[in-house]
Amino acid sequence: MLQHVLLERDIYASEEHKMMQSMIQDFIAKDIIDQTEDWEKNGMVSREVWERAGELGLLCIDMPEAYGGSGLDFSFSALFIEELAKQGVTGPGFSLHSDIIAPYLLKYGTEAQKQKYLPIMATGKIITSLGMTEPNCGSDLRAITTHATDQGDHYIVNGQKTFITNGYMSDMSIVAVKTNVGTDHEGVSLLIMESTMEGFEKGKPFKKIGMKAQDTCELFFDNVQVPKENLLGDEGQGFKIMMTELARERLTVGLNAIGGAEGALKNTIAYTSTRTAFKQPIANFQNTQFKLAECATQLQLHQAFLDRCSILLSQHKLTAESASMAKYAATEMHGNVVDECLQLFGGYGYMWDYPIAKMYADNRVARIYAGTNEIMKVLIARGLFKELFAELRKK
Ligand SMILES: Cc1cc2nc3c(=O)[nH]c(=O)nc-3n(C[C@H](O)[C@H](O)[C@H](O)COP(=O)(O)OP(=O)(O)OC[C@H]3O[C@@H](n4cnc5c(N)ncnc54)[C@H](O)[C@@H]3O)c2cc1C
Repeated sequence: MLQHVLLERDIYASEEHKMMQSMIQDFIAKDIIDQTEDWEKNGMVSREVWERAGELGLLCIDMPEAYGGSGLDFSFSALFIEELAKQGVTGPGFSLHSDIIAPYLLKYGTEAQKQKYLPIMATGKIITSLGMTEPNCGSDLRAITTHATDQGDHYIVNGQKTFITNGYMSDMSIVAVKTNVGTDHEGVSLLIMESTMEGFEKGKPFKKIGMKAQDTCELFFDNVQVPKENLLGDEGQGFKIMMTELARERLTVGLNAIGGAEGALKNTIAYTSTRTAFKQPIANFQNTQFKLAECATQLQLHQAFLDRCSILLSQHKLTAESASMAKYAATEMHGNVVDECLQLFGGYGYMWDYPIAKMYADNRVARIYAGTNEIMKVLIARGLFKELFAELRKK
């Protein structure tokens, strides 16, 4: 029904996209849906689903084939993110691994680092995470206190990270540290840390209000010896790298939001067409029709903007401001759509067995992680007043 109303999306219109879409739908049906209840109980997914995604070429989709990727353009990665979100699949943290960590390595890694990690990441035989947030700072990453002391050919790392997606299952983590303690952002560097390194400990997966099958945990570093060859990018460049790469991360969160909103809307159209009240389908009430018409309109508008951002990302032209707008606007829209949809399910909408209930709980975090939506507005405003702020800094 929805497809009769929404415009066809040019970025997914090719035969190759259609083939990939049906392969992804098959993967979700065969390897994900039936496992989800167990994963939710365990607070994490299985290693098998990662390896299956690797076998199907669904990990590191837009990474060059020379490093084990599928060598496709970003629109195929975007399609995978949206298809998972449409079906409410939030357990496996594939996108963080493929669309965020892999590009960090690809862009800033040495040839030895790329050869060591990228091909095996594409197989799903190792799982990765990104450690930026600490118990005392999330929005203000300049304030991190995890530190790496220079010992000649290696660093000694001490500190702690929290809320780390894929953290418990991860074999390798890119960790933000201060190599120059006491300094501001210019003292931040990135280190590749393997979970088998002595002194690297993980907390238990957190109990969250949603995304219960996705593991999120703390990481602890107690005198961990990290060879200098594990420095990613130059010393002191970590903050700049993170700020550059966050644009891509924010776009992926926005894509997840439009996929999620589409899934919620489809579910609700089906439900309201069959559920009756006062001897008629509840879809027959004008309130239901207007609410869903508003949601479909919002979805359509956001799809158009996000598609444009995906194209700009492929052309290396996506700005921090546009990525922040995409993340902020699409996640707010997703939140509103899911809330309106849940209302139309009545009491059933509040029951965990109904996908809309999970969508409601799972979606809430999108306004918080990858930079809160308040921080997105700070970044957009910084662009609006760029010249003024530059002048003020000079004084
Ligand atoms: C499920 C989940 C998964 C996550 N995954 C990861 C991960 O893989 N890796 C990782 O490093 N982190 C991860 N995070 C952390 C996430 O990115 C942070 O929680 C987020 O950036 C906010 O930081 P904070 O929690 O410290 O909140 P705070 O920074 O303490 O913010 C609290 C409130 O203050 C507001 N605020 C702060 N500064 C400003 C300002 N300048 N102007 C206006 N308002 C402001 C915020 O918007 C927010 O509303 C995850 C978090 C969750 C919940």
